[in-house]
Amino acid sequence: MANLKSLGEFGLIDRLSRKFKHQAENTILQIGDDCAVYSSSKNQLVSTDALVENIHFKVSAISPGQLGQKAIAVNLSDIAAMGGTPTRVLITLGISKKISTSFLDQLYKGIHKTCKLYGVELSGGDTVSSPESFFINITVIGESRKGKLFTRKGANKGDLIFTTGTLGDSSLGLKISSNKKCKCSSQSRKHLLDKHFNPTPRLKESRLLARSSLKITSMIDISDGLAQDLHHICKQSGTGAVIYEEKLPQSPAFSKVCIDNKLKHLPLILNGGEDYELLFTLPPDGVKKLYRQFEKAQALVTHIGEITQTLNKVSLVRKNGKRETLPRLSGFNHF
Ligand SMILES: [Mg+2]
Repeated sequence: MANLKSLGEFGLIDRLSRKFKHQAENTILQIGDDCAVYSSSKNQLVSTDALVENIHFKVSAISPGQLGQKAIAVNLSDIAAMGGTPTRVLITLGISKKISTSFLDQLYKGIHKTCKLYGVELSGGDTVSSPESFFINITVIGESRKGKLFTRKGANKGDLIFTTGTLGDSSLGLKISSNKKCKCSSQSRKHLLDKHFNPTPRLKESRLLARSSLKITSMIDISDGLAQDLHHICKQSGTGAVIYEEKLPQSPAFSKVCIDNKLKHLPLILNGGEDYELLFTLPPDGVKKLYRQFEKAQALVTHIGEITQTLNKVSLVRKNGKRETLPRLSGFNHF
């Protein structure tokens, strides 16, 4: 195995990017020059996200291949949240002394696998040395058709709130990943760990919404937790919201593991975060069509509540009928 010093920066970049063959339709110049070049007549979406060792992940708790897959997937999720299609990524690595060539090979195997799966081109990046912690920064570029851009702003009183998939699996997956005493079947364990370590960006669902004539009034991906991300929609839209405990979608694995291990399900669902499901709002007259389209595409969607007039107030109606106000900043806080 070649060591990093003998490879040098350019040798390393060449080694890591060699496998990436996919080229986006509108590429004029791929990776390898001072800049990559592409042309477009569509809206361009751009977002960036850094993952730092010991802040966002521990090298001992996630394999480099999983880290690569997840780093790409969570960035693609941001493009999905806007109703866009991801086209290219730029990747910067901060390489600390303890990182080996084999770690980077595995990391890029995960990155490559996910880029290939979603048809995303590697358009560039940088490698630098980092004194203490390893980090990876990804910039993702996507595009959306004119007039089909979903944002956090636009929800109106009376709109219904929906989420794709199920909630809480990822944070429960993280919780049980380091707990050997957890009472759970190998099947449940696999489901929950997969949702945490290998999340699926909801691009299929996002495309479905973008291509339909449904009037989606706002959308976000759930990365900080349902409560926090719903607050983001309310703040931007100048509204409030009410959600119902009994409607919150749970996977069978999630429900069973919570019950068998006497874990409270609500904190995981509301504040756990990293679900990477889509949370969106729609006027009631579009509901039938929404269900029909999701059923046809075999995709899960659940009505969980309504948009209200009370500014910035998000409430939860418990199964016993009691109403609670959900505080802001209950999700992951970096600082
Ligand atoms: Mg997001």
